[in-house]
Amino acid sequence: MKLSGIRALVVGLGKSGVASAELLLKQGAVVRATDTSPEAERNVARLGIEFRVQSPEVFESADLIVLSPGVPADLPPLEAARRRGVAVIGEVELAAPFLKGRIIGVTGSNGKTTTTALTGHILRECAVPVQVGGNIGAPVTGMVESSRDDQWNVLELSSFQLETIRTFRAHIALCLNITPDHLDRHHTFENYAAAKRRLFETQQSGDSAVLNADDAVCAGWAASGPARVRWFSLSRRVEAGAWLEEERLLVGGEPLMAASEIPVRGRHNIENTLAAALAARLAGLSLPAIAAAVRTFRAVEHRLEYVRTVSGVSFYNDSKATNVDATLKALEAFDGGLWVILGGKDKGSDYRVLRAPLCRKARAVLLIGAAAAKIRDHLGNAAPLVDSGTLEAAVAYGYRAAAPGDTVLLAPACASFDQFRSYEHRGDVFKTLVHGLEEKS
Ligand code: ADP
Repeated sequence: MKLSGIRALVVGLGKSGVASAELLLKQGAVVRATDTSPEAERNVARLGIEFRVQSPEVFESADLIVLSPGVPADLPPLEAARRRGVAVIGEVELAAPFLKGRIIGVTGSNGKTTTTALTGHILRECAVPVQVGGNIGAPVTGMVESSRDDQWNVLELSSFQLETIRTFRAHIALCLNITPDHLDRHHTFENYAAAKRRLFETQQSGDSAVLNADDAVCAGWAASGPARVRWFSLSRRVEAGAWLEEERLLVGGEPLMAASEIPVRGRHNIENTLAAALAARLAGLSLPAIAAAVRTFRAVEHRLEYVRTVSGVSFYNDSKATNVDATLKALEAFDGGLWVILGGKDKGSDYRVLRAPLCRKARAVLLIGAAAAKIRDHLGNAAPLVDSGTLEAAVAYGYRAAAPGDTVLLAPACASFDQFRSYEHRGDVFKTLVHGLEEKS
């Protein structure tokens, strides 16, 4: 892509918008920036580029529009720009022609960060040059400068980042699962799935597609592009792939390790490990080296993260469980004795699927935040429900009521923005509250 002299507009000035503006400037584009918040001007002040608060006029007179993941790709002025022949892309597509080295792209509804971090960890432990970024950590545009030809780029890619790709190519593309999420932005499940599927449609022959054979949507993607498909499965033997058999992980039919050796909790993490191991194998690593690296992996913060045990009561922080499926997986990871904190900002979810596991495993559900009434309504009498309102009250109640051996689990199935800045903020507040608890006398 030739960017020199073209008039580029960057929309949304978070981390990735700023990194996109920097890359565009370096490539000689004439860069302008916009955001719905006037305060965002601060973020680009040091770049000396023109900033205007977002309005329909801002989108006129641009040759290229680069969207941040937070900006809906179907805004009316964007549709109008497309009709004028203006290219509307995301920062991943912008970075694609400049990023050196090969790419492992990781997508899915849940488990992206864990699997990206685990894949990066395996490569790093095996002394393979690697950089990790995308939706996790550094924006892809920000990774361009440090990229090298002999290196792997392990990228976590969200539906928002993928919906606008055209030439971006993952040498190894991996999808963990597709369950409903972000329907507020994509409107339909089909649109949401189609955005993720782009990752496989832009692959080339000789590339590999790593897909979950147990996920009906992923399974339908085998013919999306020219890549050779490698399957992973928790439930059955798959041709030339990775699977679980008698609680042992196998890759290409060879033993990798026992499931019990995986240091992160839950069946879903066996899936993530199968997928990451398969990707690492495709990147040329040996199974013993992969297994040794997996053994030293630690849970990513806010993902079923063990916090502490006080007076026999254990606390787990799964603040990243921002949708129902992630909460289901969290519940699966425990045998019972749970005090489950649910609630926050609803994303149009159906919480009724939580009834059966809650009925089996929860001593009570502690409801917080704006979605409490809807969740109460959906759960009915599946478990005793406590209206806690705030996280602070929920932690205090759970701790008081729990018996030794019980677990208080924050896996809220909702976004955090009603009461917190982010899921990280929510998880940090939870951990601070838990660290402040005193032994019961
Ligand atoms: P993402 O980046 O896709 O949101 P994370 O690794 O941050 O994924 O995990 C998000 C939530 O989903 C956490 O609550 C985690 O425990 C849960 N999770 C992780 N892996 C999976 C998986 N393979 N299937 C379902 N849920 C998962």
